[in-house]
Amino acid sequence: MPEGHTIHRIAKDHQRLLRGQSLILISPQGRFSEEAKQLTGKKLLDIEAHGKHLFYRWVNQQYVHVHLGLYGKFRLHSNPAPEPRGAVRVRMIGKRHSVDLNGPNQCEILNPAQYQQIKQRLGLDPLGDVQDIEPTWNRISSSRAAIGSLLLDQSIIAGIGNIYRAELLFLTRIHPERPGKQITRAEFETLWKLTKELMGIGVAQNRIVTVIEIKTEIESLRRIQNRFWIYKNPECPRCHSDVYCWELAGRTIYACDKCQL
Ligand SMILES: [Zn+2]
Repeated sequence: MPEGHTIHRIAKDHQRLLRGQSLILISPQGRFSEEAKQLTGKKLLDIEAHGKHLFYRWVNQQYVHVHLGLYGKFRLHSNPAPEPRGAVRVRMIGKRHSVDLNGPNQCEILNPAQYQQIKQRLGLDPLGDVQDIEPTWNRISSSRAAIGSLLLDQSIIAGIGNIYRAELLFLTRIHPERPGKQITRAEFETLWKLTKELMGIGVAQNRIVTVIEIKTEIESLRRIQNRFWIYKNPECPRCHSDVYCWELAGRTIYACDKCQL
C-alpha cells in the first residue's frame, strides 16, 4: 500500500498539472459516471493530501475523496490521452494533461461536512503544515498497545506504512512490541523528527529511502541494502544478529531483539 510520501507526491504533481483548471471528467469504467458529470466544466481549486487520503476541492465546494488502498493507481498522460487501460474509475482531463485513476479503495464525492468528518478521524500528518504534537503524544503515552501497532493507526499518525514503521523503530532503537506507555517523551520527539525527515525525503525522491540520507550512524553500520536498514533484511546491520519478523497489526514487522529494546 502506498505510504504518505507517495500521496503527498501525487498531490504535488496533480497541483502542478491540474490546479486552477476547469476539467472534463469521465468514467470509462462507468462506476463514477454520475459524479463525473456533476463536476465536468467546474474549476478544480486545490488538492490536499492528508496521510493516505487525497481531497480534490472543486469551486462548488464539493470534494473528491480518494484512498488508493492496496490496488489503486494513478497514471499521468499528456493530451491527447491514450485509450483507457484497464478499469479506469475516473479520467480527469485538463488543458495539457490527463490523469487516470484505476482500482481505488475509495473514490467518492463529499460535501464540506463529510470532508471535515474524515479529516477529524485522521491523526497528525508528519508531512502536513499543522504540527501540534501534543494530541499525538497523549494518544501514544496513554496506550497499552504496542508502538508498532500505534504507528500504523491512522487516527494517531496519518501516513506511516509498513516500511517506514520498521525503519523508524530500528533507527530509534525501540522494540515494536514496547507499549506506547513506556515510550519516553525524548524517544517520541526523536521518532517524530525522524518521521518528518524520512518522509520528506520520500516525497522529494518519490520512493522510500531511509539509509542514504541518514548521516548519524552510517559510518559505523555496514550497509546491506541500499535503501532500507531492517525491512526485509535477514541480518541486523548493527550487531549482525538474525532479524526477527512477525505479524503486528496485520502487517509483517522486522526487528532486532538485541538493538531494539
Ligand atoms: Zn541488532
